Amino acid sequence: MTTDFTATRACFHLPEGVIYLDGNSLGPLPRAAAERVARTVSQEWGELIIRGWNKAGWMEQPARLGDRIARLIGAEAGTVVLGDTLSIKVYQALASALELTPTRRVILSDTGNFPSDLYMADGLCRTLGPDYILKTVAPEEVEAAIDETVAVLMLTEVDYRTGRKHDMAGLTARAHAAGALTVWDLAHTAGALPVDLAGSGADFAVGCTYKYLNAGPGGPAFIYVAPRHADVVRPALSGWLGHESPFAFDLAYRPGAGIERMRVGTPPVLQMAALEASLDVWDMADMADVRTRSIALCEAFIAGVEAACPDLALASPRDGDKRGSQVSFRHPQGYAIMQALISRGVIGDFRAPDILRFGFTPLYTTFDDVAGAVAILADIMATGAWDRPEFMARARVT
Ligand SMILES: *Cc1c(COP(=O)(O)O)cnc(C)c1O
Repeated sequence: MTTDFTATRACFHLPEGVIYLDGNSLGPLPRAAAERVARTVSQEWGELIIRGWNKAGWMEQPARLGDRIARLIGAEAGTVVLGDTLSIKVYQALASALELTPTRRVILSDTGNFPSDLYMADGLCRTLGPDYILKTVAPEEVEAAIDETVAVLMLTEVDYRTGRKHDMAGLTARAHAAGALTVWDLAHTAGALPVDLAGSGADFAVGCTYKYLNAGPGGPAFIYVAPRHADVVRPALSGWLGHESPFAFDLAYRPGAGIERMRVGTPPVLQMAALEASLDVWDMADMADVRTRSIALCEAFIAGVEAACPDLALASPRDGDKRGSQVSFRHPQGYAIMQALISRGVIGDFRAPDILRFGFTPLYTTFDDVAGAVAILADIMATGAWDRPEFMARARVT
């Protein structure tokens, strides 16, 4: 398949006058999602009410959509299920992985990881007892830190700040050689670049659907469990919908078959309707084409910014193969510069302490968007237009 990116762009509602470079944080609205959610509300919830669980397939939706995500991340069919938030799924994967390595007590991660993943790991350690520890090292030092004490290697493949990409297959092989298991967070991978989860040997993986997968704010997370573990793991968050037979209302928990056991409670049916519509757009895309275009868009942006804005320092790897689908630059006044950009219709985001972050999402980002963003950024830097009090006041979400 050759992806028609003009056709995929036409599937999105992009507000007039906006160059949107923040799809790595929240994807825009697929036009069909608005209609699909409205239909689910009026025809399914409205007309079927409780009958929707059986008649509209609500109960099967988490695994059915999981299979569609599996295709995008190189996972086997029947290994991915949706539900909850990514933070919860991190906890669940980690707890299950720790149970599979009962003689060890160390979770190894890196200091570039997203704080929520580290908070969840730390909280889990506190619950399990004083000998459990979360150890974090610099991203470049992860490989050397994998030793026989490590129970679980927990990493985010693509760094949320810089876009630096870990070698998932290589580090997984190192972890396995040391007797450890792996939990990979694909928050900035799913829908951003091709992954071969099955081939990488990963034990567990998690990710979210509201970033590159465009399922909308609050879209459910996903979890992957390798087939060799799927019927063995005991989910720490053992909710009724992960039970073998939820409507037996059994007092004893019996895990459901395979990936179904990683479900917890009632799924977010309306959010999943939006996800379903967004996955229809992904059916038009080939991940290899997406990656090729993403690298070209990122390179065009880096070249343009470096030529026009000498005060901005590239914070992302220069080599496209070592980067996800985002580009970051550092500047001490990064927050104000980003607010000035947003006021002129170029939407990226800011990550403390000094990172201006721009996501490149080939399904709807064009080379004209790149050129337009570079021109406006260059103008803001050359004129010092960012240096105004209204651009300094920090909003709650940056
Ligand atoms: C976006 C992101 C999260 C957010 O978790 P939620 O529970 O969905 O809010 C967690 N981890 C990583 C690595 C992320 O990029």
